[in-house]
Amino acid sequence: MFSLYFHVPFCVHRCAYCDFNTYAGQSEKIPGYVEALESEIRAVAGSAGQHLPAYTIFFGGGTPSLLTSQQFKSILGTIRHSFNISEDAEISLEANPGTLDLEALQELYRLGFNRISLGVQSAHPQELHQLERIHDYFDVIEAVRWARQAGFRNLNLDLIYGLPEQTLERWKSSLELVLGLHPEHLSLYALTIEHGTPFGLWEQRGKLPIPDPDLAADMYEWAGERLKAAGYEHYEISNWAKPGFQCQHNLQYWRGKPYLGFGAGAHGFAAGLRYSNVLRIKTYMERCRAISALPFPLSPAEVNSHPVSLFAEMQEAMMTGLRLTQEGVSADGFEQRYERKLMDVFGEEIDELIKLGLLEWAESKGILRLTKRGRQVGNQVFLRFV
Ligand code: SF4
Repeated sequence: MFSLYFHVPFCVHRCAYCDFNTYAGQSEKIPGYVEALESEIRAVAGSAGQHLPAYTIFFGGGTPSLLTSQQFKSILGTIRHSFNISEDAEISLEANPGTLDLEALQELYRLGFNRISLGVQSAHPQELHQLERIHDYFDVIEAVRWARQAGFRNLNLDLIYGLPEQTLERWKSSLELVLGLHPEHLSLYALTIEHGTPFGLWEQRGKLPIPDPDLAADMYEWAGERLKAAGYEHYEISNWAKPGFQCQHNLQYWRGKPYLGFGAGAHGFAAGLRYSNVLRIKTYMERCRAISALPFPLSPAEVNSHPVSLFAEMQEAMMTGLRLTQEGVSADGFEQRYERKLMDVFGEEIDELIKLGLLEWAESKGILRLTKRGRQVGNQVFLRFV
């Protein structure tokens, strides 16, 4: 079973912290981009030589909600024509709350979308302003109301913590307000300052008073307790869901299973290859216009691909599997998949991280996972395996 990712690299305005592959002020290119995306879908599906089965479809960005329902209808038609999509497939759309209305959401629901992920980031006006988001919190409330009215029963809301000048109290109030909207899923991300963004520049100049890491850790810990009390399962370092509402698409990545990426800057992993597409929209469209037969899973837009060695795959399995806070890495599952014992390959690293109190064995040594403390410094734990 494959997962399919579609990148839509258009935004109304570039947020001050964002380093995603997205472009503001280029919406006139959207119709040509949609055509290119469909050519790429046909090219990759054609090279597979069969209708590959897929059970998740995810439109991310950028701001996919800038596309019209006609454009989505056309893309989804091409996807369904090219792949064997499960009847109960999870079909997700990332959306900016400032770009939605009831009619559009009703159309999207009719087309088969069944999950919406809204970039909320904060409920506080000053924080939203500083992040240079195009929406306010009232837009979020409206978007959620419209999404429910349109029929969506699977809603994710994204929030960022550790924002400049954010206090624990302010973070608590953002999360409480968002909980009042009863989302099925929540993604909470720590702010990371990326080089080349306005935030990166302001930080360099000492003009960005970001909270110290201890305060950000307190925010994360408080959120974990609060969400547990509210009935959410903490299933991935940054993700919580009501039972039955885990994001199937992202689980595919974390479980190291194959996915195909389409669009400018999209990444994929299939047939033992990791690959990525050209970043720029114009070049992407030019490349997709060129007819060339390439081996699966590559498309004319691909600029970087490499085979993943068995050892690299095992390293990645540790990095992504340990992100799953309950599921973790199964010792038996590892052995079945790689025909090597987990402790034979990574015994030294695992023993060391257990001694440091960052990893633990669960279920009679069947499952290796992060401890509560390990979740706070997940990236450092993962680095130990590469
Ligand atoms: S809306 Fe999302 S993708 Fe677009 S600039 Fe803002 S953070 Fe980046």
